[in-house]
Amino acid sequence: GLLDLHAMDDTELLSEVRKRPLNRKELSRKEEDIITVHDSSFLTVYEPKLKVDLTAYVEKHEFCFDAVLDEHVSNDEVYRETVEPIIPIIFQRTKATCFAYGQTGSGKTYTMQPLPLRAAQDMVCLLHQPVYRNQNFKLWLSYFEIYGGKLFDLLSDRRQLLMREDGKKQVCIVGLQEFEVSDVQVVKEYIERGNAARSTGSTGANEESSRSHAILQLAVKKHIVVKDTRRLRDRDANEAKNTKAVGKISFIDLAGSERGADTTDNDRQTRIEGAEINKSLLALKECIRALDNDQIHIPFRGSKLTEVLRDSFVGNSRTVMISCISPNAGSCEHTLNTLRYADRVK
Ligand code: ADP
Ligand code: MG
Repeated sequence: GLLDLHAMDDTELLSEVRKRPLNRKELSRKEEDIITVHDSSFLTVYEPKLKVDLTAYVEKHEFCFDAVLDEHVSNDEVYRETVEPIIPIIFQRTKATCFAYGQTGSGKTYTMQPLPLRAAQDMVCLLHQPVYRNQNFKLWLSYFEIYGGKLFDLLSDRRQLLMREDGKKQVCIVGLQEFEVSDVQVVKEYIERGNAARSTGSTGANEESSRSHAILQLAVKKHIVVKDTRRLRDRDANEAKNTKAVGKISFIDLAGSERGADTTDNDRQTRIEGAEINKSLLALKECIRALDNDQIHIPFRGSKLTEVLRDSFVGNSRTVMISCISPNAGSCEHTLNTLRYADRVK
């Protein structure tokens, strides 16, 4: 009806913060926990400072977000709070994006890792519900990485991928492997395979993977039975596969936010990567803000990351930003940077 024809795009943004507990190393160094979560949306950072005469004092910073998850909140609760409510609307033409933002070691991967599997579980379940059973909906998974401004497919031997805009201004990643998944065990295997393929370099996993954005997508597609295959010839790649996108959810484990500051490092490669990360995190912030303010012009072209996300941000979209913070005094500066970033986004 009329509503369907001219329905306004519906966008919604949630900015949440998750605090991790002090780890063993921080405890053994007797580091202080400088973050207090007051209720489910307020927190205070107690920043240790020194006066010119070297007397110590504390500066208080207060922040408010859609949700603040303290160190006692489990991954299961994170799922139920942030992702579970979105799952049903992915079957109704909505694109959702869930980001983990924060410095290296703040809990991004810990937070992000279990989410796609849980989501896939719920999505597979929905596929079998009476309302969808006869719709020919199928679930597809892809997993890739943006590293130094380049795209790599984590499910096909890190093959480098290129982006191109099709006639309908849709960004498509040429050659990205997508796999139809109909049971959770298979999803688990793909995720593990992709994780193993993430940038590891010679210096150890966390070191290098903190310089890349990992993007795992679960897409719901409607399969179309085409009787006359000759008609397919001039259509775009998606339709050539006889599928039509319905909705999708992307899980993004962002590069360590402190890596954006690596722009003065002695190593040239590190500097280039740092500049790229800086650019992409700034562009991401600008895009999310523009979307949330219903601006017509969204600056997608600011970075590879935002270009890739373009199709998830236009139309009906849900964005969940989980900013991860470390509680220890030694991380105070990075923590304040993360909270200020998250504050600008909301
Ligand atoms: P990042 O991906 O941001 O670099 P990680 O997710 O690797 O950080 O987390 C760093 C360490 O802290 C890991 O050993 C992880 O298991 C632990 N950790 C992170 N968040 C939590 C949490 N909420 N509860 C318990 N341990 C956590
Ligand atoms: Mg990580």
